Amino acid sequence: MDIKEIAEHANKTARMHNHYGTEPERAIVDKLLEEIDELETAIYGQNYGHYPMDSKDNDKFKASFEEYTKNTVGGELADIIITALAGAIELGIPIELNIERGLRYNRLRKYNEE
Ligand SMILES: [Mg+2]
Repeated sequence: MDIKEIAEHANKTARMHNHYGTEPERAIVDKLLEEIDELETAIYGQNYGHYPMDSKDNDKFKASFEEYTKNTVGGELADIIITALAGAIELGIPIELNIERGLRYNRLRKYNEE
């Protein structure tokens, strides 16, 4: 999946779970803060986990995810990205364009200069 497909998939799931309520901007910020807090816990806990083969069976996959991926550094980084991409779709932000422009700008920026 490309970034736009991931964002649309994530937004569809978030909407399915009614994550945005009546104040989508507030809900997006609150969820990102929650995920950053979970990332901090995973990093300080050195919880890097490992990755078993995923089962095609959804119940087995869910159990495996909860045991090996949930609350890990990788899992929480993914949660932050998923939350941000879904939120971008919810707010009508062309996130792929913003990412491309941000990458270009960062490459052109001069660091460690006055
Ligand atoms: Mg999380």
